[in-house]
Amino acid sequence: MGVRPPAVARPAMSEQREIAARLRSLGLRATAVRCAVLSWLADHPHATANDVCDGVRDRVGSVSKQAVYDVLSACADVGLVRQIKPFGHPVRFERHEDDNHHHLICRCCGTIVDTHCRVGNAPCLTPASEPATGFVVDQAEIVFWGVCARCRANDRSFETNHARESSRLDGGERG
Ligand SMILES: [Zn+2]
Ligand SMILES: [Zn+2]
Repeated sequence: MGVRPPAVARPAMSEQREIAARLRSLGLRATAVRCAVLSWLADHPHATANDVCDGVRDRVGSVSKQAVYDVLSACADVGLVRQIKPFGHPVRFERHEDDNHHHLICRCCGTIVDTHCRVGNAPCLTPASEPATGFVVDQAEIVFWGVCARCRANDRSFETNHARESSRLDGGERG
């Protein structure tokens, strides 16, 4: 009774300082472009490299596309950025939050939506072959493919893809 939880002594760091500290702790220099990319990505998950370029240019002025690619690649290497590679769509990037979330991807427009662990904690799924392979699994990345609400509402887009899918499955048979 009357025991107060210890006050949080650490002052709230600004987002920029937190990002800079994170970069340094991983052995990367906290350059303006790296900080800008990570900060922008935090607010815009599932962005393409072009999106990142456009977003970062608004914040730090002129920066080459190659410089942004280099930052994304370096940050992916140290686990600060996660890459999502939906087949048939450009690679997307997001901040790696270590929350083991999965993705719903629209096969029509490529929209990506986060979905959390379906059951329990990471890695959510245990492969049937795990014991035999000797692997210790700590993460699972699942992609759920489907059609987003906007594309379903857009009849033409949905029917076009549905027809293409059916004709492929039916060997081109038409009713
Ligand atoms: Zn869609
Ligand atoms: Zn995500």
